[in-house]
Amino acid sequence: MTHDPHLAPATVAVTAGRPARTQGGPVNAPVSLTSTYVSRGVPGDELLYARGGNETWQTFEETLAALEGAAHGVVLASGMAAIAAAVGDLPPGSVVVVPRHAYQVTLGYLDDRAARYDVEVRRVDVADTDAVVAALDGAALLVLESPTNPMLEVADLPAVLAAARERGVRSVVDNTFATPLGQQPLALGADVVVHSVTKYLSGHSDVVLGAVLTNDAQRADEVRAYRTLHGAIAGPMEVFLALRGLRTLHLRVERATANAAEIAHRLREHPAVAEVRHPSLPDDPGHARASAQMAHFGAVVGVRPVGGPAGADALVDAVRLWVPATSLGGVESMLERRRRLATESPTVPEDLVRLSVGVEDVEDLWADLAQALDRAVS
Ligand SMILES: *Cc1c(COP(=O)(O)O)cnc(C)c1O
Repeated sequence: MTHDPHLAPATVAVTAGRPARTQGGPVNAPVSLTSTYVSRGVPGDELLYARGGNETWQTFEETLAALEGAAHGVVLASGMAAIAAAVGDLPPGSVVVVPRHAYQVTLGYLDDRAARYDVEVRRVDVADTDAVVAALDGAALLVLESPTNPMLEVADLPAVLAAARERGVRSVVDNTFATPLGQQPLALGADVVVHSVTKYLSGHSDVVLGAVLTNDAQRADEVRAYRTLHGAIAGPMEVFLALRGLRTLHLRVERATANAAEIAHRLREHPAVAEVRHPSLPDDPGHARASAQMAHFGAVVGVRPVGGPAGADALVDAVRLWVPATSLGGVESMLERRRRLATESPTVPEDLVRLSVGVEDVEDLWADLAQALDRAVS
């Protein structure tokens, strides 16, 4: 089915990428479990071998591209595979501008490139538009997250993406935290969007997958070539699970973001809390920008309990309903003290606990968090 651009995102999530309506035909695209396709003679555009293409990928790619407002979608084995493919070639001497706080493996990947090849990585505070624009001078690539992981800094996406475009700097926006329902960076001027499909898009903490979205046909071909040459391909069963999750993205995100705003508001009032970060809070540094450029404030909350890192560890130990784990975007609420990971940026506070708020009942979530905070400080 071709996608009607006038449909609302909720309708797109449910209806895009469906098979043609033939009498007796399936409503869902079948999961295609085959490593190769019948082929003789000189192959044309048809599927040939499953490292190069698979019908189940195509269904997912079409649906996600429709949601992100992109002409092309490419599914890959993980969010990191998507980021590596989107970063692509960096000739010797290239300069890459990245957030000082971002997904730590993204920063690690770029640092690794810098250490091995002649590449310079400039880390910037993405909330400081002047600093981002200044850093773009002579750069080849701008990699962005907004809100950032885990500090929730919000970049002025239209301004910095326009500045990149004017200077001929390629831009890649990791839209994992916002989801396409929260913001569409391609419409704001990005060349490429990447997702960790592992998080909100699949939504059930049961797959690891990634995707690249773009309106640039040549860039999409390069990413597909990267996928084939590096073999960073998705399994059809994982893609099936991700598509199943994508069908309810709007419902999950609606509940999770509402829960997150309520939890952030209540944390603010709690005596065992020193600081809360969530763009929904009116005095949060990212609030005005997020209100202007996002349709929701996301479902990740940062909290610094009183008692420093020990207080943060005690909080994580004391929850019963929340899951102590890394990752985010699943139906189940999770929390983690980020700096327990040696690779997390040293400017992230030692006592920052990242909450991924799920879709449970908000009163149950709050009751568990409140008892854990009370126990952590007593
Ligand atoms: C998890 C995450 C990634 C990496 O995705 P994987 O699917 O785990 O490889 C990239 N960016 C952000 C913002 C993430 O949260």
